[in-house]
Amino acid sequence: MDCKNCNCKTVRNGSTVNGTQRYYCRECKLSQQATYRYQAYLPEMNTKLVQLIKEGCGIRSISRILVISPTTVIHRVLLIARRLYRTTPIAMKRTYEVDELFTYIGNKKKTGMYCLLN
Ligand SMILES: [Zn+2]
Repeated sequence: MDCKNCNCKTVRNGSTVNGTQRYYCRECKLSQQATYRYQAYLPEMNTKLVQLIKEGCGIRSISRILVISPTTVIHRVLLIARRLYRTTPIAMKRTYEVDELFTYIGNKKKTGMYCLLN
C-alpha cells in the first residue's frame, strides 16, 4: 500500500482490534489503514452535516443519518461555526432576517441567547 500522505511504499504494521491491517510509512512516520469503517473523517461529511442542519435536523437525527457519533456531530458543528465566525463578517447595508433561539446552557441559571441569520 502507498502512503496517503507522501505516496511512498508502506510496510505492514500490526492490526487493529477489529483485525484490520495497519501500515506504517518509514518516510513520514505515520501509521494508517487502507480503509476505515468509521466514515466521519471524510471531507464531504461536513458538507452533508451543514445541509442537514439547514434542513432543521437535530443532533441525534444527523448522527443516525450520517452514521457518526452525536459527540462528533456536536464537535463538527462548533468547529464549522467558529470558522464561519472568523471568516464571514456581516456585511453592512444589507437586509437580514433574524430568528432567535433561547436556550439553557447546563442549567437554568445559565441562559444563552443565539441569533440565527438567514
Ligand atoms: Zn508517508
